[in-house]
Amino acid sequence: MDHPSISLSSFVRRGARMNEHTRRHMQLGLRYSSGLAGVPKGDMFVVLLSKSAWHAVGAQIGSALTFVNKTYSETGQVKLSSRDASAEPIVEFNLLSDRRDLDRLMSGFRKMAAIQLSDAVRAVTDKPFPAAYTDKVRKIGVVNTRNRILTKIAATLMDGPAALRHYLIDNFVVEGFTFDDVINDDEALEAFVRKATIGVWHASCSCRMGRADDPMAVVDAQGRVKGIQGLRVVDASIFPVVPCANTNFPVLMSAEKIAAATMQ
Ligand SMILES: Cc1cc2nc3c(=O)[nH]c(=O)nc-3n(C[C@H](O)[C@H](O)[C@H](O)COP(=O)(O)OP(=O)(O)OC[C@H]3O[C@@H](n4cnc5c(N)ncnc54)[C@H](O)[C@@H]3O)c2cc1C
Repeated sequence: MDHPSISLSSFVRRGARMNEHTRRHMQLGLRYSSGLAGVPKGDMFVVLLSKSAWHAVGAQIGSALTFVNKTYSETGQVKLSSRDASAEPIVEFNLLSDRRDLDRLMSGFRKMAAIQLSDAVRAVTDKPFPAAYTDKVRKIGVVNTRNRILTKIAATLMDGPAALRHYLIDNFVVEGFTFDDVINDDEALEAFVRKATIGVWHASCSCRMGRADDPMAVVDAQGRVKGIQGLRVVDASIFPVVPCANTNFPVLMSAEKIAAATMQ
């Protein structure tokens, strides 16, 4: 499991950017309640950043990333891709299988769009666009000299005339959906959310804790792997569901709890 998320990005004008040498970090976190019937308060989270990657273009792009903190989608799957133990497994998160998760991301996106359209944000940004973590974005995000040079050149052009900037964003960054498409047409917004939703690095629940008679449980209440002597798993993978929270502290607390029980 993971928390499904969607992002709205825009070009950040000079003067409103983070120092190029500062690492990317979260500048504002907004926790809110969707108000959807039956879901707990604080089920939604927005992270605002004025830098989206290490490179020169990343320093020009700001993003608002919204995620569903209390997800209802079914668990995904981790499958072996081959008999070779060093091969990467196939990971399917199954993120939007529950309609409530999709609906909350769509309403979260509309909230971000309203913030984007406010005078204060418009004054320091240009050309908002629905963002997707595409192969192009992934490839240019690899830290190497080629990408450093390419993004320096692209960033110089992006700081040039607005028409050129818009052309570059439309043709090299955006894939398929424009900001106007998704804020004026619910079907386009749904299609975009279905296509662009990704997790927020809160991968959990791949070998869950459970009773001895539970065929899907991998570890017992003390993290001991069933059927293997002397091996425990004590991390986010033993969670029964992804918590309604960021995962770092829950991982630490699981480790403290199991360590304390084991030391007794
Ligand atoms: C980019 C990013 C940003 C994040 N931001 C936040 C945040 O702001 N707040 C928050 O709460 N959480 C955040 N998280 C999530 C949080 O970091 C993770 O949920 C948490 O660290 C998971 O802990 P873990 O022990 O399960 O896994 P990990 O921290 O990944 O630890 C697994 C360890 O196992 C080791 N390992 C792997 N395979 C083997 C092997 N075969 N043999 C021996 N060792 C092995 C790895 O080297 C690693 O040290 C973020 C995650 C990422 C990736």
